[in-house]
Amino acid sequence: MKNYIDQDDMISANSAYVLQTVRRHAGISRKEISSLTGLSWGGMTKIVNRLLESGYITEEKGNAAPGVTRVPNLIKVNPEKNFVVGLDFNLAGFHAVVTDLTGRILTETSSPAPKTNTQALLASCTDFLVWTLSPFAPEKLFALGVAMQGIVDVRGGISLKLPGISDWSNIPLRDILEERFRIRTWLEHDPDCLLFPHLQKAGKDNLLLLRIDRSIGAAVSVNGKLLKDTGILEIAHNIVVPGGKPCTCGMNGCLEAYIAPCLMEDNVDENALRELCDPLAITIRNLSGVFRADRVILTGALIGYLSQAEAQLRGFLDDYCPSLPVELLELSTSADVGAASIAADLAIKELKI
Ligand SMILES: [Zn+2]
Repeated sequence: MKNYIDQDDMISANSAYVLQTVRRHAGISRKEISSLTGLSWGGMTKIVNRLLESGYITEEKGNAAPGVTRVPNLIKVNPEKNFVVGLDFNLAGFHAVVTDLTGRILTETSSPAPKTNTQALLASCTDFLVWTLSPFAPEKLFALGVAMQGIVDVRGGISLKLPGISDWSNIPLRDILEERFRIRTWLEHDPDCLLFPHLQKAGKDNLLLLRIDRSIGAAVSVNGKLLKDTGILEIAHNIVVPGGKPCTCGMNGCLEAYIAPCLMEDNVDENALRELCDPLAITIRNLSGVFRADRVILTGALIGYLSQAEAQLRGFLDDYCPSLPVELLELSTSADVGAASIAADLAIKELKI
């Protein structure tokens, strides 16, 4: 393995930068690419031509306004290939999207997930992906991102633990899917996938996202970047009420002990929801202090119901962190979309043209 950067590496890095720029500014001219990326005209031209030849982008004539003779050509991501797959691997059900490189959704699928054992769950996930991908030619698929519940080793692509499936342990899900579908695959922690689509708009603001359903997952961005590592931000068993409700882990007063009773099959326990408000507000205050969060997003299956106790939650938040914006967001963007977006970014970083 070489330990230096050569000209090919520079061209690859610049190609990735140009492609990212085109993804974010559809219908951009060569001149605009050169000015946004800081590349010289010659360097930009070489890269744009390579990306055109490899089919990542397209170039078409711009529409001339009346009386205007010279109109620059418009460069866009090729909408016909390099599709990205996002999978939300969740015991509540599988959800998937296939998008193009701009994030435009081409198809969306969902299916129940068996909650029995590892083998059934893996077989069902594979069948679900086969069905989702059946309309697409394999050579048109560019990357697969998996938003994974539980504890995830992101670097190794391994799902370490999945609460609720007792024989699920150290499953190399990235390699399993990569081998089966022959698509470059990344495994991500699901709250990170929910936060990722918010990053671009947030700029350098630090964000804290809590996904609350039957348990809780957290994601944090610092200076515009996701904070990622194995097993960090596992907050379900933080003690928020000393001597409080008994938890499945054997301790008392864990956050999860207040979340778990809230959500029933398709309804909510209003008393449990009210009891959750104070511990949840404490959690938000503590985490936002640790990460200097500028804004907090609460999302997940429970949030649709949390509006029933919102006044109470807001009361505690006003006491503990009065100037912190806290937004309740029902799942409008699901984790599969974020997983696809992260995978697209990472696959483009690896681009060799
Ligand atoms: Zn606990």
